[in-house]
Amino acid sequence: MNKKEKAEKIRLILEDLYPAPSIPLHHQDAYTLLIAVLLSAQCTDARVNTITPLLFKLAHTPEQMTLLEPCCIEEIIRPCGLGPRKSRAIWELSKQLIENHGGKVPQTFEELEALPGVGHKTASVVMIQAFGKEAFPVDTHIHRCANRWGLSSGKNVEKTEADLKRIFPRHSWNKLHLQIIYFAREFCPARKHTIANCPICSWIKPL
Ligand code: SF4
Repeated sequence: MNKKEKAEKIRLILEDLYPAPSIPLHHQDAYTLLIAVLLSAQCTDARVNTITPLLFKLAHTPEQMTLLEPCCIEEIIRPCGLGPRKSRAIWELSKQLIENHGGKVPQTFEELEALPGVGHKTASVVMIQAFGKEAFPVDTHIHRCANRWGLSSGKNVEKTEADLKRIFPRHSWNKLHLQIIYFAREFCPARKHTIANCPICSWIKPL
C-alpha cells in the first residue's frame, strides 16, 4: 500500500468516526472566531469557550474592543494564559482592523498574518471556518498523528502541513483537520495509547 492509499484509508476511517465534526470554538462571526482562536494558543478549547461569552458580552466588534482598556481585557482572559500578550494582541489587532480593513476581518493569508498575534495556524482556521477557503491548519495533535501514521516525517508543523496537503485531496482538508484533532484527543494522546483498541494503528505498523 503506498502513502496515498494509506492516507485514503485513514480518511475513510475518520469519515466514519466523525462524519460531521463540529467547530470546537464558539463564535458568532469572523471577528469573534479570530479572537477565540487567538485565545486558544496554549489553552484548551473548552476553557476558551467559558471565557469568550464574558468577553463578547462587553465587546464583540473591533470598535467595542478598542473602547476597553487592555488591562480590562487581560483581567477577563487571564484563565486562558499568556494574558498580557494576548490582551495586547486583541486590542492592537482590533485597532488595525478599524484603521486598515474597515472594521472587517480580511480574507487573505497575507493580511491576516500581518495582524498582531495571528500566525499561520490561526489564519488558516479563520480562512476555513469563517470564509470557507481551503486550508490545513496543523497543530501539535495533527503533527503527532501524521508522524505516527508515517504520512510525514516533518520536524515542524510547516513541513507536516506541506506533506499532508500533498497526500490528501484538497476538498478534504477543511474537514480532515478537525477529524484528526478529534481522533487525536480521543485515541492518540501524546503519551499512553492502546494499539489494540486503535481503529487506525491496528492495521498500520505504529512508529
Ligand atoms: S495506535 Fe497509537 S499512535 Fe497509532 S493511531 Fe492509535 S493511538 Fe495513535
